[in-house]
Amino acid sequence: MSEFKKERTLVIIKPDGIQRTLIGEIIQRYERMGLKLVGLKMLIPSEKQVEEHYLLDPNWKKSVGEKAIEGYRKKGLTPPTEDPIEVGDTVVAALKKYMTSGPVVAMVWQGAHAVEIVRKVTGGTEPRSSDVGTIRGDYVLDSYQMADTDQRAVRNLIHASGSVEEAQNEIEHWFKSEELMDYRLVQEQILYDVNLDGILE
Ligand code: ADP
Ligand code: MG
Repeated sequence: MSEFKKERTLVIIKPDGIQRTLIGEIIQRYERMGLKLVGLKMLIPSEKQVEEHYLLDPNWKKSVGEKAIEGYRKKGLTPPTEDPIEVGDTVVAALKKYMTSGPVVAMVWQGAHAVEIVRKVTGGTEPRSSDVGTIRGDYVLDSYQMADTDQRAVRNLIHASGSVEEAQNEIEHWFKSEELMDYRLVQEQILYDVNLDGILE
């Protein structure tokens, strides 16, 4: 099978997702699209693990700040600061508290365009504005405004890698190579094979 059909992405069901009893629902959303689960574990992350995870991409801190400032503007609100790095630092501190507050479920999903497909169904970062039909849009209601008012992280149920490169680094960060399964799913023949042979009797 060609390599792009084996793209992998990291998904973490965050502590609020576990507490909302949405593990099954969330797994089903990715599974029914045709993606294959190749790694799965439950753990309580350490602050170090969380900080390292978010700082794997050196540009993340600035971009998370820019996104939040833009989110405020779109709603006609004034952001608490104009400095994206300052927002980034605050978000890292909030994420350490949020992500270590209870067990999480970490997963690796594999399939064609896995990173993009998982992001699409997961929805945008802020549940208030993420699309209807996405997991974040359908199952939760948090906003930048509420998170900032209460000085905490946006509770959006899920982490999903943002790019193929990010996914590779993040998977290495959370999983040992022997924890990832190489196996075949029968349905892959229908999803990927050139000819749909063997259906008719
Ligand atoms: P995503 O998870 O959609 O890739 P980011 O990588 O930009 O989003 O941010 C990581 C996580 O940090 C988000 O999922 C959310 O939980 C939290 N977060 C992002 N921006 C803010 C913010 N401005 N205030 C509080 N928490 C935030
Ligand atoms: Mg991200």
